[in-house]
Order: sequence, then C-alpha cells, then structure tokens
Amino acid sequence: MANAPDKKAVLRCSVRISQIKKFGQQQFGLPKTKNFSRYCPEKSGCFFVQWCSKEKIPQKDKDLEEELFFDGKEASCFCRKKEQEGLDAFVFKVPGFIDENSEKKFGSPLTPEHITWNQRSLAVMIFHEDFHVWVRKFKLKNISLDDKIEESLASIFGYVAAIFWAKEKHKKINARRFLRGTIKDADLACAAYEAMENVYQNNNLNSAEKDALKRKIFNKYQKSIFNDSSWCFDRKANFASLYVIYKYSKYINLFYKFFKTRNNLKTAMQQIEIIAKKSKSPDDFIECIKDLTTKK
Ligand SMILES: [Zn+2]
Repeated sequence: MANAPDKKAVLRCSVRISQIKKFGQQQFGLPKTKNFSRYCPEKSGCFFVQWCSKEKIPQKDKDLEEELFFDGKEASCFCRKKEQEGLDAFVFKVPGFIDENSEKKFGSPLTPEHITWNQRSLAVMIFHEDFHVWVRKFKLKNISLDDKIEESLASIFGYVAAIFWAKEKHKKINARRFLRGTIKDADLACAAYEAMENVYQNNNLNSAEKDALKRKIFNKYQKSIFNDSSWCFDRKANFASLYVIYKYSKYINLFYKFFKTRNNLKTAMQQIEIIAKKSKSPDDFIECIKDLTTKK
C-alpha cells in the first residue's frame, strides 16, 4: 500500500488549494466554497458505480442509477454484482463531486490522492467543482436542468480557467496542446455516442443485430476512450460509461469556441449568467450560445 502523505504535504496542498480558490473568486467571480477544504485521510478516492439497462441507450442522468463508494475495491465488487444482474455497469472515478447536501455541509472531500497531484491538475479540478457551486448560487436552471450542458461547461471552464491561472502564475503550460487533447477526446466520445444512438434508434434492426453493432462500436472506441482513462476505473466500455463520458463531452467544443472569442473569463462568465437567465429553456440557452459564437 502507498504511504500515507505526511502532515506537511497535506498542509502544503491545502495552502495551494486555497490560493487557487481565491484566484478563481477574484478573477472569474466564482463563489467561496467548502470544496476540498476538509481532508479525509480514510477516503482513498470517490468512486461512483453507475448502471443502466443493456438494451436502451441512456439519454438523461435519470436513465442511470448510481451509488457512491470511497474505496475502489468495494466499488468494483458492487459493480460486478450489478453486471451479474444483467446490467451495464462501471466504476466512475471522480476527482471531486458535489451534491446538494454535501456542498452545504462539507464541500467535496480532499483525499490522499489529491495530495500527490500537481498544481495544474488541482486547478482544473477546483475550477470545475467551484463552477457547479456558481451555477447553484445564481440558480441557473437552464444550465443545471440539462446535465450535459452543466458538465460539459464545467469541464471546459475548468481547463480554460486553469490556463488563465497558469499564465498568471507564470507556470509552464502548453495551452494549445492541453486544449487540443481535450477537444479531440470530447469529439471522439460524441462520435461514439452518436453512432450508438443511430443503431439503437433504428427500428429496422432487431435486438440481436443491435447487440452485434453495439459490440463492434465499443471495440472501435475501446482503446481511444476507455482504456487509459482515470475516470473509467475498470476500463469497461458499455452504455453506462459511454453515457457518462458523452455527458462531459457533448458541448465542450461549442463552449470552447465561446470562451476562445473572449479574452476576459470574468465577463464571459457574466455573459453566461445573463444568457442562462434570459433563455427560455436549456435548448434555447444552447441556441443563444451558438448564435453568439458564430456571430462572434
Ligand atoms: Zn462536474
């Protein structure tokens, strides 16, 4: 077993975290949060087992069920049980998470794994999680009602904000490469999901044919999406893991274009807030963002 981080390392990491959070508050207008301020040495990480039907491609968060574990082995064990019940299940390893209760009380836990991370990875994670709190603070329903909008936006914001932070702090960062990889991964996830959606919405195919095509599509994308990813803890390519990665990817490209045309992230955030409040629905919000990015 890996050595537990010593007190000094935990303290050093905590100081860095509060510096990054303060930067986010000042530069991007993020709210003060409790995220990552509570150290939980007993938690080896955050592992969500997520599962769904094998026969129906998930369209919304509600189509998946989940249970949270703080131990990878326990999570894998539970996941196996779900598979034995004939379900598509996988272990989703997340660096941080918030839910309505935990954010108000404690924020996302700081785990021993975080202590070993470099500052850039910490920055991406912190900006992502604090972004979720920002959405809740301003009650931006047209973002929060569609998990694909909220997670894609939180993800690309996390990366873009981390680049701003790194540049300000004179840290070495290859921004173009950093982002190019993110966009490429997101595009792959979207392509895989859309291919699968086409198969499963095709009424001319019977379930055996669909199943065969499902396996073919997963084989094609296994390496590029599921194999070397930290989020897909057990490397399982199935409907549950595909939907989750799609959720974090669907609007990455669109919001990247939006951020790219703005050089001040704080005003970009204010603009997002206004559009989210003015728009009539999550779909309308996306249309407004599309209009803005094409017009510039
Ligand atoms: Zn998130």
